[in-house]
Amino acid sequence: AKSQGRGTYRFFEPDMDVQLQARRVLELDLRKALANGEFEPFYQPQVNIASSEISGFEALLRWRHPERGLIPPGEFIPIAEDTGLIAPLGEWVLAKACKDAMTWPGNLKVAVNLSPVQFRNKGLVTSVVNALSASGLAPDRRELEITESVLLQDNDATLTILHELRGLGVRIALDDFGTGYSSLSYLRSFPFDKIKIDQSFVRELSTRADCLAIVQSITRLGESLGMSTTAEGVETEDQFVQLRAAGCTEVQGYYFGFPKPLKELVFSLAPRQLS
Ligand code: C2E
Ligand code: CA
Ligand code: CA
Ligand code: CA
Repeated sequence: AKSQGRGTYRFFEPDMDVQLQARRVLELDLRKALANGEFEPFYQPQVNIASSEISGFEALLRWRHPERGLIPPGEFIPIAEDTGLIAPLGEWVLAKACKDAMTWPGNLKVAVNLSPVQFRNKGLVTSVVNALSASGLAPDRRELEITESVLLQDNDATLTILHELRGLGVRIALDDFGTGYSSLSYLRSFPFDKIKIDQSFVRELSTRADCLAIVQSITRLGESLGMSTTAEGVETEDQFVQLRAAGCTEVQGYYFGFPKPLKELVFSLAPRQLS
């Protein structure tokens, strides 16, 4: 029994070591990547339906790995959140996106995603202030996208931070709307500037009548609450036509443009995209 016990012990310990080590390696990799400038925001256009013009771009982070090539955010954001690296990484994206937006024509806006983990960090408001002042970008050209899970951590601290951010003149959008549990109550807790309708509703717009009904209700809700609505994940002309008829304010998706590096951005649409 004694030897079996020792055997079991030996079996588990190295295993946990390996997991822990793998995480440390990844964390170290991410730290190095940030220091080496391997992160890069791509930008995807958001199109205003009434004016038929691009109103701004959403920053979507990529990791340009020297050996592995482009790595999507789904593969490294969760690790950055677990290891605390999301704070410096998030601050870096904010600053970079503001700086990049200063090179764009007109009053185009830039939207940046905030992780719920960043809200647990006392320095969030300060890093937004720093990013704005370093770039000189007007606050109302800056939009922060947060998900419902931020409001799930509820507590007054989160709402205080949101109000402080709004106090800076920054716009706040509610991302992935409709995927959480009690979405409607969140609309009461904070006056968002924008609701982003989750792409799961847009995807099945042509095949499911209930998706159309849901999108119509969200746009009407937004209208009566004074919030604009942006439909995400628009891939086809048919989806666009339906979203326009449903009264959405803006559309975003592959049909209007893929996320692209700063240097490849185009600031106007092809006429066929708006027919
Ligand atoms: P999200 O904010 O909901 O972003 C939308 C995702 O849908 C992006 O994936 C975008 O590339 C993709 N997408 C856009 N148009 C279409 C379309 O027409 N069809 C389909 N199927 N997909 C479309 P991506 O770039 O892989 O980003 C995934 C998630 O990673 C984002 O979801 C966001 O939650 C997170 N993320 C990205 N950048 C950042 C960042 O800088 N900070 C933080 N905290 N999170 C980020
Ligand atoms: Ca987003
Ligand atoms: Ca989204
Ligand atoms: Ca999402």
